[in-house]
Amino acid sequence: MALSGCGMAEKEARNHYVMSLAFDEEAMTLTGQQTVCYVNLSENAFDSLYFHLYPNAFASGRERSVVASNKMDEAYYDGLSSGWIDILSVCFENDNKAQYEISGEQENILVVNLQETLYPDEEVAINIDFSVKLANINHRLGNGENTINFGNFYPIACVYEEGVGFSQNPYHANGDPFYSDCSDYDVTIKYADRFSIATSGNVTKERADEENRCVAIEAENVRDFCFVLSEKFEKASVIQEGVTINYYGYKGDTDLEENVNVAAQAVQTFVELFGEYPYKQISIVKASFLNGGMEYPNLVLISDKVAAADYIYVIVHEIAHQWWYSVVGNDQYNHAWLDEGLAEYSTLLFFKQHTEYGEDFNQMIISAENSYKLFVKIYTKVNGSVDGVMDKPLCQFETEPEYVQCTYTKGVLLLDSIRQTIGDKKFHRALTKYYNEFAFKNATPADFISVFISVSGTDMEGYINSWLYDKIVW
Ligand SMILES: [Zn+2]
Repeated sequence: MALSGCGMAEKEARNHYVMSLAFDEEAMTLTGQQTVCYVNLSENAFDSLYFHLYPNAFASGRERSVVASNKMDEAYYDGLSSGWIDILSVCFENDNKAQYEISGEQENILVVNLQETLYPDEEVAINIDFSVKLANINHRLGNGENTINFGNFYPIACVYEEGVGFSQNPYHANGDPFYSDCSDYDVTIKYADRFSIATSGNVTKERADEENRCVAIEAENVRDFCFVLSEKFEKASVIQEGVTINYYGYKGDTDLEENVNVAAQAVQTFVELFGEYPYKQISIVKASFLNGGMEYPNLVLISDKVAAADYIYVIVHEIAHQWWYSVVGNDQYNHAWLDEGLAEYSTLLFFKQHTEYGEDFNQMIISAENSYKLFVKIYTKVNGSVDGVMDKPLCQFETEPEYVQCTYTKGVLLLDSIRQTIGDKKFHRALTKYYNEFAFKNATPADFISVFISVSGTDMEGYINSWLYDKIVW
């Protein structure tokens, strides 16, 4: 691939990924040539840069599986299977080969040693050639039964935190173990023409010969890039205030129109509640995936295993993540409750406004309370105690139910408790302020708390922290 200069001068400084990808279905591999123009927005000088290599979590012999033990059979539909990423070469703009190493407990980090120290506000272009082998697995990255999912497939720059360093957390079966900065993407993807594609960003060019299709995609100011291929896709679209909303179901599905309309309603509701959707499109993609749904910028996966009764709920929850995760980012490994709690509570707010779905908001809060109490009761009985700490790394949640109860359910209860304490008006003003202030950035729990303090005029720190860190047993 021809290396171009970073050329970021006229744009707001952020990382820029240029990727040329080709998918070989026979070998089940995706080869990629990626140029990352990395901008040092920190106050420190760097001699090395760090990139996540998430596909290596799917390699065989890992101590930790990529899915919870009770979901192995559903995930590995065709027996155990492995995937990984091979780094084929790393070089700089002048074609000089870079010194690099692959480190981390899951070989999950690529460390690139720079030729020259990268000082604040300087940028460097790094060319990485890679090849990703997909496992046969119904997961966010993998060759699933009905769709081929490309989530977290490429080397993505680790977030640098002042005073902490580069965040290098490994993959984990619980939750969405990701953390990244908003960047620009220019991607071309070549694949067999019989597939349809759903993607982050906007397709700007497309060409096909007898066998292959090649699409060019631009995605500006997004914190990740994902795409999905399938022969089964059938799409319904609506345009709403300049945003194209796509729903990808499977051929023969009779609920395409219904689902695209729900998605449009969810987008509209969250625009009104929190602030504008700053992209041109969003794709809601039915896919071979395990856990309800999964969010990426401009694209969400909805598991084709979700029961019909829960399908709309999952669509709404995943769309809420466009506000909480995609636009306002956070460290999903260490503070999962921050986006999950907000996405889940936003879902309840959607149903509060749309009574036509027959959900009762107050009843949903009571159900959340009962669900958490039951979790406390059962875990106390089985383990003698329960750990209700919400704000902790994914690896410290001992089971999936503990993770779900402490991040989603307790997240909902925390937010509703704040709403009841400061009233609806201030609560909604705080959410809008949080959204606007941290759009395209990564927010921390302290940022979240400080917004609620400033809007409510009440020192809520101790109160919110008691939810986050105390082993509340109700
Ligand atoms: Zn979620």
